[in-house]
Amino acid sequence: MQTEPAARRPIHTAVVLAVGSEITVGETRDTNTGDLARWLSEAGVEVAWITALPDRLATVAAALRGALDAADLVITTGGLGPTPDDLTREAIADVCGEEPSVDPDLVGWLRHLFERRNLPFFESNVKQAWLIPSASALANDRGTAPGWWVDRPDGRVIVALPGPPSEMRPMWQNAVMPRLRDRGLGRERVARTLRLTGIGESAVADILGEALLRGTNPVVATYARADAVDVRVSAVEEDGRPAEEAVARAEATVLAALGKYVWGRNDDTWPAVLGRQLEARDWTVALVEGGTGGSTARLLGDATWLRSAIASADAGASEAELTDAAEQARSRAGATLGLAVRTVEQGEDTQVELAIVGPFGIRQSVVTAFLGGAEGRRRAGIAAAAFLNSILRDE
Ligand code: ATP
Ligand code: MG
Repeated sequence: MQTEPAARRPIHTAVVLAVGSEITVGETRDTNTGDLARWLSEAGVEVAWITALPDRLATVAAALRGALDAADLVITTGGLGPTPDDLTREAIADVCGEEPSVDPDLVGWLRHLFERRNLPFFESNVKQAWLIPSASALANDRGTAPGWWVDRPDGRVIVALPGPPSEMRPMWQNAVMPRLRDRGLGRERVARTLRLTGIGESAVADILGEALLRGTNPVVATYARADAVDVRVSAVEEDGRPAEEAVARAEATVLAALGKYVWGRNDDTWPAVLGRQLEARDWTVALVEGGTGGSTARLLGDATWLRSAIASADAGASEAELTDAAEQARSRAGATLGLAVRTVEQGEDTQVELAIVGPFGIRQSVVTAFLGGAEGRRRAGIAAAAFLNSILRDE
């Protein structure tokens, strides 16, 4: 029973609710909302929020009302089973102001399922055959609880999915997504990530400023990752302005302020970025490191341009000896470049000493990596990769 406006309202925003006290007491890990949030985001739908709720009618109904105020689409998972604590249907009926009744087709299908397996049919199961006038059933090929698709008069949609992920996923893919796509799902969305090194997340945030970081379209956000501080820029098309245009403008602002720290984009990794530059020149690298626990070799991985990885740049060696170690590694491996890395604990932090020898001569650097111990050693590997990258970019 789709009305005219219902057919025309596009789905741009969503709220995802996980229903079940086993989640709010921490016994079941909620994976459903995260999965749905990812699928929706990939489809260009902005997820306003995701929430887990206990099996309490008033709480679920209130959450549904709040979600319907905010979003075009509200998705629930869980609480569709036959037991009294399964009350998602009651909550939706309450919010819609409609009375559930037993659907003859659904109850026939349900009875058939039990007959097929020679199981007695308990009356409590009938609840799973309920519908309200504005709901239609979503087939469940993996269980006994059908989902609900509910059209609201204003064109909003509520979709109720079962809790078990093995039932939720196929129902989403086979029964819900095609129907949502028919309705016009999502907006064109463009996202780009700039990967930074040599600067902390708080400094990045400070430079970019609150106005940029609190904007909603484009969204500019910072993330501290293990191998980088990421600045992610994303936008949707709005009022005829293409998403690409908004992203390009925000990206240019970020690059103007922080360009010198950017070493990669999107899914770039250190081995990929270094590899591109080395392979373009047909250059190879011999690595020698000490006091790093082999973190540089581990970071660079099994790259074809990495000729040898010998773990011995002596602690306490002088600058000249570090350069010698790089030169020796280079000539022994017949590589274009020699890279030597050594760490010295420095209070709570780690001093990283670096030397590179190559066709351009000798380059040296000393940087301080945040924290000592294993974390300091791990960061020393990143400092070495960043040093090599800065030299490749300059040459
Ligand atoms: P059923 O008919 O199986 O009872 P249901 O829709 O009533 O389906 P629930 O009773 O809420 O679903 O949950 C059933 C099981 O599904 C849970 O015990 C749990 O293992 C899994 N589950 C429920 N919700 C989630 C969730 N959000 N994330 C991951 N697993 C979940
Ligand atoms: Mg249940």
